[in-house]
Amino acid sequence: MIVHICCSVDSWYFLTRLKEKYPFERLIGFFYNPNICPRSEYLSRMIDAKRCCDRLGIDFLEGEYDMDAFAKAARGLENEPEKGARCATCFEMRLERTAKEAARLGEKRFTTTLLMSPKKDLRQLEVVSKEIARARDLKFVFEDFRKGGGTQAAFALAREKDAYFQNYCGCAWGLIKQRDAQGKIAVELICSIDGAKNAATAADLRLKAICERARRENEGEKTRLYKTKIMEWRLLSGGLTYGQTPIACDIAPYSASLAIKSRLVGVGKGVARFEKAAGFVVARSVADSANVRAVLRATLGLGGDSDSGLGNVDITPIFVVDDLTLSDLMLESVKNADNAACGSTTVASGDLSYDMSSLVSNAVITATIVSAFCEAESLATEFATGVNS
Ligand code: SF4
Repeated sequence: MIVHICCSVDSWYFLTRLKEKYPFERLIGFFYNPNICPRSEYLSRMIDAKRCCDRLGIDFLEGEYDMDAFAKAARGLENEPEKGARCATCFEMRLERTAKEAARLGEKRFTTTLLMSPKKDLRQLEVVSKEIARARDLKFVFEDFRKGGGTQAAFALAREKDAYFQNYCGCAWGLIKQRDAQGKIAVELICSIDGAKNAATAADLRLKAICERARRENEGEKTRLYKTKIMEWRLLSGGLTYGQTPIACDIAPYSASLAIKSRLVGVGKGVARFEKAAGFVVARSVADSANVRAVLRATLGLGGDSDSGLGNVDITPIFVVDDLTLSDLMLESVKNADNAACGSTTVASGDLSYDMSSLVSNAVITATIVSAFCEAESLATEFATGVNS
């Protein structure tokens, strides 16, 4: 029998009961859930479901993760509530694929751990599944193990087995609705626009913890998953322009939202100073963050490789800094700006070059940052491993 697996929480009890009820049946777990978003969350659930099957001695297969196909199937149903038409489509897609896998393997019966989930409409699942079974000449095994305290027993068993308890059903639309209702941000769905410089998302951290646990368990260690909270910061948009011309820059992680439109009064060697004391911008090579350090060092007259003299200022790729205390830097930059204005100094910045003297003469620079902080309570359930000795 092929058993569609949705997650480990619903699987532990369902598979255990299924084994008891069908002792002579070979069970094959089939994890096919392209509805789960983002991919890191999908992987967390997949790894934990495999762990459950492994422990129960059940073969495990993973289907393809085709999120585009799911998005197409759900088109027009994005605003449906849970248990509505989008969920029916979601069940249909997952169970249709499971039935196909059953046929491919020559199995005659299939079922799903979705039947264990208290949030799913059993009638909806039954109708969809039986229709698929009829069309493929298979049998859908309908089991209601939720009855008679089964739901509570399932949760207790999943806890005992230290399963990963996800905190949303799976798809982006369900998640958005859920978080809206809670007054929280669906932060898992916000992509970073600045790649590696953004902090990892809560979903990334969960995956990391689950992979770590798998590794430790493979090495024979005892592990425990536990929830922690994190502060999550996302850069939603940001940039620096001179007139219509974008200037290469990076924005420091954890920068607050900021909008500056200001005339430059000082600039030199890539360091610019605004007439308003609102902030600083360092234009720099996008590709080479080491260049920023070199520029700052030169500007401040610092030699060597040490960061001494730069105080607590984070000079990793950046920069709009709105609480700058670097008066030395400011003075130095003005001095350099004077030099630049006298000559025709051009500061190369990656593939771009700026004629800084023309920048000084009539520069109105616009800098914007739109960032989102999510309060610890509002987002993050990070899971981390702890070893019980
Ligand atoms: S809420 Fe859950 S069941 Fe419904 S469409 Fe989204 S992932 Fe599928």
